[in-house]
Amino acid sequence: MSNEIYQKIRVVLVNPSHPGNIGAVARAMKTMALAQLVIVAPQRDPFDSEARARAAGALDVLLRAQVVEQFEQAISDCGLVVGASARLRTIPWPTFDPHQCAQQVVATARHDAVALVFGREDTGLTNDELARCQRLVHIPANPDYSSLNLASAVQVITYEIRMAELAAGDQSVSLPPEQPLATAAELQGLYQHLEKTLQQIGFYDPANPRQLMRRLRRLFNRAQLDKMEMNILRGILAAVDEKHK
Ligand code: SAH
Repeated sequence: MSNEIYQKIRVVLVNPSHPGNIGAVARAMKTMALAQLVIVAPQRDPFDSEARARAAGALDVLLRAQVVEQFEQAISDCGLVVGASARLRTIPWPTFDPHQCAQQVVATARHDAVALVFGREDTGLTNDELARCQRLVHIPANPDYSSLNLASAVQVITYEIRMAELAAGDQSVSLPPEQPLATAAELQGLYQHLEKTLQQIGFYDPANPRQLMRRLRRLFNRAQLDKMEMNILRGILAAVDEKHK
């Protein structure tokens, strides 16, 4: 089995409130051969007795989970960040169903780390968190009641990943990409640089943002920049900064 693929895929829970759900997520993951769990700022002890009971035979996955304070820390080294969302948002973002999501996740995880990001039980992910995701995945549930339990959503999405991985079989002969993908942290650096430069040259007025930065993020996210392309864009911005000094 291509274990390396599973090791490159992590599940990120943002600010979960119920330890029982966290245990159930560990169990859902282990049944689908996934083991990398990252918990961002849990509201209660993620390793309490309820979490352990719900993890059942996946206690190892639960106890090895990494707890971090900031969302950024959970995704910074990832080449692909996919956010799971129960609702569709203000400006439409590239959105997959779980099957399409799994195809891209499995293809990307051959060479780059992938984060699957899940939101809070009550309010989901914030718009800023969603903007850090290159793709969204939406389970096309009942439109009158589309919000699955957190661990159920993890189960559906990771099941599709397992199916895609089994179907893809051993593709170890396929060529590696020319360049690794730019990481989430590098993309964040690009957006900050772009925002600063666009302000300097008077193209972007933060008082009247009209979604400009969000639209630019969406554009670059669609492109799945690799490291070389990222360096070219940073070089162009640096040259503009230099001229405008
Ligand atoms: N009321 C919240 C739903 C939270 S459910 C909201 O409207 O956003 C907790 C998490 O489970 C969500 O943040 C999302 O990551 C995942 N989830 C629940 N239902 C989903 C669905 N239909 N498609 C994709 N993810 C879903």
